Amino acid sequence: MNAPAPTPAPADAAPPAAAAPIAIACPRCRTMTQYAPSNPWRPFCSQRCQKIDMGAWASETFRIEAAPPGPDDAPE
Ligand SMILES: [Zn+2]
Repeated sequence: MNAPAPTPAPADAAPPAAAAPIAIACPRCRTMTQYAPSNPWRPFCSQRCQKIDMGAWASETFRIEAAPPGPDDAPE
C-alpha cells in the first residue's frame, strides 16, 4: 500500500494588517486618498498637491525679512 504524499497545509492566511492602506484626506484639497506605500505622494492625493504644499512651506521658510538700515547707512 502506498500512502498518499502529505500535502502541506495552506500557509497563506490573511495578509498582515500593516499592509492595509489607510484612507486619509489630502491636507491640501481634502480629497480622500490612501496613506499607503502605493501612494508616493502621501499624505497628499497627488504630486501636484505635494508640490504646492512644499512650495508654500519653502517660501515661508526661506523668506528673508529686509534688514533694517544700520546707522552706517544714514547719510550725514
Ligand atoms: Zn490633494
